[in-house]
Amino acid sequence: MLKSRRRRLLPFFEEHALDLLLIEHPVNLRYLSGFSGSEGALLLSPEGGWFICDSRYTVQAGKEVADLLLVEQAQRQEAIADLVRQSGGYRVGFEASHTTVTQHQGLAVRLPGVTLVGLGPELDTVRNCKDVSELEQLEQVAGLASAAFEAVLPLLQPGIREDVFALQLEFEMRRRGADGRAFDFIVASGIRGAMPHGRASDKAILAGELVTIDFGAIKDGYHSDETVTLAVGSINTRQQQLYQTVLDAHDRAIAAIKPGISCRELDALARDYIKAQGFGEYFGHGLGHGVGLDIHEKPVISPRSDAVVEEGMVFTIEPGIYIPGFGGVRIEDTVAVTSDGCRLLAKVSKQLVIV
Ligand code: ZN
Ligand code: ZN
Repeated sequence: MLKSRRRRLLPFFEEHALDLLLIEHPVNLRYLSGFSGSEGALLLSPEGGWFICDSRYTVQAGKEVADLLLVEQAQRQEAIADLVRQSGGYRVGFEASHTTVTQHQGLAVRLPGVTLVGLGPELDTVRNCKDVSELEQLEQVAGLASAAFEAVLPLLQPGIREDVFALQLEFEMRRRGADGRAFDFIVASGIRGAMPHGRASDKAILAGELVTIDFGAIKDGYHSDETVTLAVGSINTRQQQLYQTVLDAHDRAIAAIKPGISCRELDALARDYIKAQGFGEYFGHGLGHGVGLDIHEKPVISPRSDAVVEEGMVFTIEPGIYIPGFGGVRIEDTVAVTSDGCRLLAKVSKQLVIV
């Protein structure tokens, strides 16, 4: 499995005439080697490669990393430079989106005569289509988070503070086996709902308000992402109209997902609908993003995206309307693309619930 993931890098070797490719970003490291620690390096050739770590991680790497030569070192860049020299490589690719200027300079000084070739965000697209084991893990963590949300939902009553609800939700996720929260939960009630990223505050949730709750869990490196907007007590016609517009936009996009459709078209389906209902100026962000070992990864579902939907992709659909001084609604599901459509990984129903 890891070998087949690394084979996805071969086109980069060819395109850039690389002898070696250096991977240090922890998420890519985990994806390509199985190593779950926070520091290490992978120096790959088209045929194989080396995994380099310091003594803190030797035992862990021995268990997690198969099919690669393990190198323990005290100074990582020295070890990388030694291996490059030993192998006679003269063009070495690196992750331009993740490597710091200091790291780059450190390598350049140690490797005179070697060309360091920066590969941009396109390198991360090797993680676009999830394999079977990833799909299982993403499904499991999404199901866990949805179940935790439903378990704590009875606590959502007028008077409870946003941050208290967020804490209870995180506690319930961890009780059910999550390693932690995927990000700081958004709990935005009443006029705070107009902030797309309104982190849970000490505000009490009141009757007559909409409350947007964006939550996710992390387990074994994989993330979940889901947003539910609820009505607390009865809400007025405008709030209902907002909710229905976002739900319809969300449903339209999800119904259109299948391999071959462009991510830009998906975005337009939801965006044009929201615009036609008169709320166009209140939907500023993209429609969605990939979810996997990173909470935000490729593909991007936005008007600027040039990605095309493929089977195995996992991404969110999350239209929203945010009206300053009034409030907002966002509805978000994470889906896995199948051969002829998609299936929902997030499990909470998106029909309006009044608590
Ligand atoms: Zn979210
Ligand atoms: Zn999201």
